Amino acid sequence: MQTYTYGKQFLDKNDYQAVLEVLQSDYLTCGPKVTEFERALCAYTGAKYCVAVSNATAALHLTMLVSGIGQGDEVITSPITFLSSANCVRFAGGTVKFADIEADTANVDVKEIEKQITPKTKAIIPVHFAGQSCDMEKIHELAKKHNLFIVEDAAHAIGSEYKGTKVGSCKFSDMAVFSFHPVKNITTGEGGAITTNSEKLYKKLLSYRSHGTHKEGEMTHTWEYEMRELGYNYRLTDIQAALGISQLKKLEQFKKRRREIVQFYNENLGLPHLIEKEFSNACFHLYPVFIEKRKEFYFKAKEKGLNLQVHYIPVHLQSYYQEFGYKKGDFPKAEAYYEKCISLPLYPSLTGDDLITITKTVRELLK
Ligand SMILES: *Cc1c(COP(=O)(O)O)cnc(C)c1O
Repeated sequence: MQTYTYGKQFLDKNDYQAVLEVLQSDYLTCGPKVTEFERALCAYTGAKYCVAVSNATAALHLTMLVSGIGQGDEVITSPITFLSSANCVRFAGGTVKFADIEADTANVDVKEIEKQITPKTKAIIPVHFAGQSCDMEKIHELAKKHNLFIVEDAAHAIGSEYKGTKVGSCKFSDMAVFSFHPVKNITTGEGGAITTNSEKLYKKLLSYRSHGTHKEGEMTHTWEYEMRELGYNYRLTDIQAALGISQLKKLEQFKKRRREIVQFYNENLGLPHLIEKEFSNACFHLYPVFIEKRKEFYFKAKEKGLNLQVHYIPVHLQSYYQEFGYKKGDFPKAEAYYEKCISLPLYPSLTGDDLITITKTVRELLK
């Protein structure tokens, strides 16, 4: 029986060759491929600076550190996201606030963000759910009014566009974070990156990525370096960066195929799904549909070879966050979304025949 998962990487011989060349070179890490990957991401997104790191969770952690988030500071994010979007605030000692979502996009609702703003609020982390950008112009206006940092969690959204600009351009934010985990739109195995247009933030990110060390002036010619802050080892390897460079070349093709698949499902499944807004041209990462008896459907689908997934359990309902006083009923739209959502297979190597098989199977299961 043919089986399908909700997402999967696509690699070809150019990817294998790119990795092999690094393995045969002098630098497995701290070499030229990382810089080359960062430059390619700048060229692609239009951002001035890019810092590649070991994964998007590390990237989010660094964005909180360089934004100066600490104890007593509040940061607002969506409850419908992966854990990291909230956890990064806790890594830095800050307080996580959630804002409810819009029912039709599952993106955080700007009006709900506004309700959560207090004198302690320091930053907003909008999450571009399923690849569709949040309404960044509105979030930017709100942030300007209250003097807040914006860090886009664009883990789902490399390749996506908002009002004609690439997600990650940071036109309406301070920083944007990508993930290159194998289920995401492009992969480096594990990996992540931060883009920004601020030289100041860029320099801080570089330092925090590598133990908080600096090497300037005279020092560049000797063994000396200066540690100014407590940093980490969040570096990406050249092996991974080479894979990233090669994958990035295929992103537009991936996007085209991902959008075709979404259109096919929209036209042929007849199931309620998320809506793409006028301002968006998304490189869709997920295809969630809404199903009444979701759990029953999940197990029946598994028997038929469809290994589906639920994105996501609302973060405020995790026991860790319940210790901060969050409870069921706090974010009704996020909770209603979670009750019925399930993500169908969406990845570039799905063929027309695969889509027919999947669509037929889903319809039969729902009869
Ligand atoms: C995958 C994901 C992350 C974390 O990415 P890693 O690279 O696995 O650390 C963060 N936020 C969102 C929304 C994600 O989907």
